[in-house]
Amino acid sequence: MNVKGIIFDFGFTLFSFENPSVEKYFDCFKRGLLKSIDILKDKDILEEDDELVKDFINIFNKKRANSFRLAMKTKDEFPTTLLFRTVLTILKEKGYNINYDIIEDEFLEEMAELYHSCEESEWKPFDETKATLEALSNISSLKIGLISNHPNHKTIKNMLESNNLDQFFNVIVTSAKFGKRKPNPDIFLYTLKKMGLEKHEAKDCIMVGDEAADAVGANRVGMQIVLKKRDYEFPYEREITIPNIIEIKSINEVLNYIS
Ligand SMILES: [Mg+2]
Repeated sequence: MNVKGIIFDFGFTLFSFENPSVEKYFDCFKRGLLKSIDILKDKDILEEDDELVKDFINIFNKKRANSFRLAMKTKDEFPTTLLFRTVLTILKEKGYNINYDIIEDEFLEEMAELYHSCEESEWKPFDETKATLEALSNISSLKIGLISNHPNHKTIKNMLESNNLDQFFNVIVTSAKFGKRKPNPDIFLYTLKKMGLEKHEAKDCIMVGDEAADAVGANRVGMQIVLKKRDYEFPYEREITIPNIIEIKSINEVLNYIS
């Protein structure tokens, strides 16, 4: 196949999360949230008040669960920065003494980054990821993109940068930045466009992912799907029933499908 563009998913496609479990995810987020709250205390935005911190954590977790459920249903992303802004606003409305007039975007970004920092250290590229991207980037006619469903753009950028992988991508798109999640076809079309490719060229492009959101979205815009088999099964995983899917076990096998 004369491939014009290839788009990768991030989690379990290029990067792996060691021994994933619901408990481990929750523990990571719990630790991250405490770091974010500490910075609010350091900057004297929050007072040392156990009741306030308890309320902060409760409201944050409730809002996070709600926004995640909503994001799954509507495919609209609810960024972590917005989550922090919402929680601070609610606490202020509840009458807590919270010292800010305007919350700067930069500050919300810093909190979101801290919140996801534990998760950030758990994701590691697969052994074959770098060599595969390097080989693909040597094909001058090929454009390389990434689409990740993640509520914080900076977290994905950080993980690519700290592993020296950002250099291989022409385009890096996250649902946090775009506003919609895979499998919404708009995020695929937007990424292709940013890669310099037209809608009708989608059929000459490959989407490499590990789950239904990748396959269904790519199929909607007419891309070829390469499914990377995962060692772990997700809870409530959707079955993929799209025909003509190429299945691979290791990421370097995508090289066999590019001429
Ligand atoms: Mg994935």
